Amino acid sequence: MRLTIDVTARLRRAQRAVADAGITALLLSPGPDLRYLTGYQAIPLERLTCLVVPAIGAPRIVVPFLEKRSALDSPVSAAGIEVLTWREEEDPYALVASLLPAHGTVALSDRMWAAQAIALRNALPGHEQRPASPVLGTLRACKGADEVAALREAGAAIDVVHGRMADWLGVGRTEREIAADISCAMLRAGHATVDFVIVASGPNSADPHHGAGDRVVQGGDLIVVDIGGTMPSGYCSDSTRTYVIGEPSGHVTTFYAVLQSAQEAACAAVAEGVAAETVDAAARDIISAAGFGEYFIHRTGHGIGLETHEEPYIAAGDSRSLAAGMAFSIEPGIYFPGRCGARLEDIVVCTEHGAERLNLSPHGLAVLNG
Ligand code: ZN
Ligand code: ZN
Ligand code: ZN
Repeated sequence: MRLTIDVTARLRRAQRAVADAGITALLLSPGPDLRYLTGYQAIPLERLTCLVVPAIGAPRIVVPFLEKRSALDSPVSAAGIEVLTWREEEDPYALVASLLPAHGTVALSDRMWAAQAIALRNALPGHEQRPASPVLGTLRACKGADEVAALREAGAAIDVVHGRMADWLGVGRTEREIAADISCAMLRAGHATVDFVIVASGPNSADPHHGAGDRVVQGGDLIVVDIGGTMPSGYCSDSTRTYVIGEPSGHVTTFYAVLQSAQEAACAAVAEGVAAETVDAAARDIISAAGFGEYFIHRTGHGIGLETHEEPYIAAGDSRSLAAGMAFSIEPGIYFPGRCGARLEDIVVCTEHGAERLNLSPHGLAVLNG
């Protein structure tokens, strides 16, 4: 699906948030913030492209002359945003500064390159700099119905790939060979890009961000498969299932059952107005009560949308309330260093009736014959 963004509405909400935060202007370089507000998928380059969104007045975009065509063809100009170009011999930072008062506060997109952030600091000596995430993160976190539909489509696409794991996870194959098959299948299932493929087998399953290496799968292995990509809509998938080659041991069966009930409890805890940390605690309390607390070494989840990791974060110490439309992962894991581990991850959306799961592939430990 392609999303049609109401650029005018998004800019209006952003400008209200900018004004409320006492900020003079947002300065957004190519990346998810720019794409969220305008639909413009500009390429990040050392040459500055910068959307200037003042609290009051018309947003304008500064682009390199050679990017003029793509800016004019993008939703930016369809929304009536003035496109200001700069030629190779000109200083784009001075051009941005000329659009702003001498003194104030600018909020830069979190993903802006440091070289550009520093050049903007030099060009705007009378301005304090802040990250844009406190302003835009909240807007981006609460998804509209069309964004939820895009995430649902992404979830269905990654579920298709998990559904075929028995074709690829086999004794004698390397993690890397398996990852290559998974990557092809992700593209065939509708992803525009493959963002990551974790195939963590045997002792590697105890390493949450392992990747995929040269290890050869053996009988009895636990294999954590955590995969995600970006759909043509721009929205991301991210889902983890744990597989076992042959009958699992009693230890594995026991700790996986704890993991599954922790993931279930965290999903059940999701509701409007509930603090993010309460959802984290719902999973963590069950794992701790079973004696595995020290082996659950990461937060329970992260928001997802145009980026795989974005606000809100489902973590201890984050007391912000969940709201309808927030989409995030619920992914507890238990990892015994050097031995084995497991993780179970779904993307869920907070609705007025609790959590809607966007990943529906079976949640139990998947026993494969290898
Ligand atoms: Zn992760
Ligand atoms: Zn994941
Ligand atoms: Zn995740």
